[in-house]
Amino acid sequence: MQEIQDLWQKVLAKMQNYVSAITFDLWISKLEVLELKNNNLVLFTSSVSAKNQILKNNAERLAECIHDVFGEYVSFEILDKDEKDKYVAQMSVDKPDAIIINQTDKKQFNEKYTFDNFVVGKSNQFCYAAAHAVAESPGNKFNPLFIYSGVGLGKTHLMHAIGNYLTEHNPELKIKYVTCENFMNEYIESLGVINSGKDKAIFEFREKYRNIDVLMIDDIQFIANRNSTKEEFFHTFNDLYQNNKQIIITSDRSPQEIDVEDRLKSRFSCGLIQDMQIPDFETRMAILKKKAQIEKFYLDDEVINFIAEKPFTNIREMEGMLSKVFFYATLMGKRTASIEDAQQAFKEDLIEKEQRLTPEKIINEVCAYFEISQAEITGKKKNKEIVEPRMIAIYLIDDMLDIPLVTIGKLFGGRDHTTVMHARDKIAEMIKKDNKTRLIVNDLKQKVSL
Ligand code: ADP
Ligand code: MG
Repeated sequence: MQEIQDLWQKVLAKMQNYVSAITFDLWISKLEVLELKNNNLVLFTSSVSAKNQILKNNAERLAECIHDVFGEYVSFEILDKDEKDKYVAQMSVDKPDAIIINQTDKKQFNEKYTFDNFVVGKSNQFCYAAAHAVAESPGNKFNPLFIYSGVGLGKTHLMHAIGNYLTEHNPELKIKYVTCENFMNEYIESLGVINSGKDKAIFEFREKYRNIDVLMIDDIQFIANRNSTKEEFFHTFNDLYQNNKQIIITSDRSPQEIDVEDRLKSRFSCGLIQDMQIPDFETRMAILKKKAQIEKFYLDDEVINFIAEKPFTNIREMEGMLSKVFFYATLMGKRTASIEDAQQAFKEDLIEKEQRLTPEKIINEVCAYFEISQAEITGKKKNKEIVEPRMIAIYLIDDMLDIPLVTIGKLFGGRDHTTVMHARDKIAEMIKKDNKTRLIVNDLKQKVSL
C-alpha cells in the first residue's frame, strides 16, 4: 500500500500545477486512496459537495494525472461517506479467489508471431538463432536470454515465437508471458489489497510467477523507476534461475543502459545478451513479401521496392504503411496493390503525420516526461531541472516540425531566435556525446509520434 500512497502523492503534486490553490486545498488535497483494484483507483472524500465539485470541474484533469502516474489503463471513482461505508462492508465479505494452479494460457501468444513468419537477415540472425535454441531446450542453453533492440524491430515477435513453439512441442511446460508494465501493476495491486486479504494476495502473486517453467518479461526497461517492484523482480528472478527455469527478457536498451542497480544488471547479463539492428534493404523486402503472403495480397517488385526503399527504422511502421497500401487497393476491389496505391498511401500518411504533431503536443510530452509544468518550461527559471527539458523541447520542435525559430521563441515566453538556436545546437551536441541525452530524446520522439 505504501507504494500506492507514494504514487498518489505524485498525482497530487501534478494536480497542483493545474488547479488553483483554493480548489486544491479545499477539494483535491482531501481525497484519500482506499485501494487500487482491477485497474480502478477507489478514492474517498468525506463530503458530498467535494465529490460533486471534483467530478464536475476537475474530473478530466484528475484522470489525466492518474494516467500519467499509474498508467493509461487505470480509471478512478470517488466515494462519499455513505458509499465508502458500503464499499468497505462489501470488501470484508469479498473472499479472495481460490488460487488457480498455473497453466499455460495459449491465448497469450499471437499466432501470427511464429519463427516461420520471422524473416531472418544480417540484422537479426543471432537473435533468431538464440531464440530458437532456447525454444528447443529451455533452461539449458542461454539463461536468461536478454534481447534488446530499438522499437518495432521484432522483440515481441520473437518472444511469442518461442511461446508458440513451446506450446506446440512442450505442452506440459508452464509458460508465463507478461509485459513489464503488467507485472508491475499486478504486483502493486497485490500490495494495495488491504487488511486480511493482503498476505494472500502477495502469496498468490508469488505463486503465479514462481511456480512456472518459463518466464517471459517484455520491455523490462520500464522497471527502472519502481523500487519495490525491482526488489520483487530480483527475488522472482533468483528463485526461477536457481531452479533452472528459463527466463527471457526484452528491452529497448542494453542491460548497462537500464537505470537499475548493479545487482540487477548483473542478473540480466549472466546468460546471453543479444541485440538486433534495423534490417537492411533486402531484409525489408523479404519482410514485405512475407506480410503480403500472410494477408493473401499480391505485391509486384516495383511496389515492394518503393516501400522498402523508404528509410524505415521501425518495422511496425513499415507494416502500418503496407496496411495502408492494401487499404487503397481494397477500395478499388483489388487484392493486388499497384504503385499508384503505394504512392497514394505515402502521401496521405505524410499529411496525417503533419496534422497530428503540434508544438503543443511536444511541449506537453516533455513536461509529462520530466514532471514539470507548462509554466515552468516556457518560463524564466534557470535551474538545470527546467533548463534541460526546455532545451530538449526546443530541439524536438525544431527537428520534427517545420516552424521558424522566431515562432519557436514565441512559444517559449518570447525568447529570441538566437537563444532558440543556441538551445537546439546544445542538445544536438549532447546527443552526440552523451548516451543518456540520446536515449531521452529518442524516447520522447517515440512518444510524440504515437
Ligand atoms: P518490438 O517488440 O521490438 O517493438 P515487435 O516484435 O512488436 O517489435 O515487431 C513489430 C512488428 O514488426 C510486428 O508485427 C512483427 O511481426 C514485425 N517484424 C519485426 N521484425 C520482423 C522480421 N524480422 N520478420 C517479420 N516480421 C517482423
Ligand atoms: Mg515489443
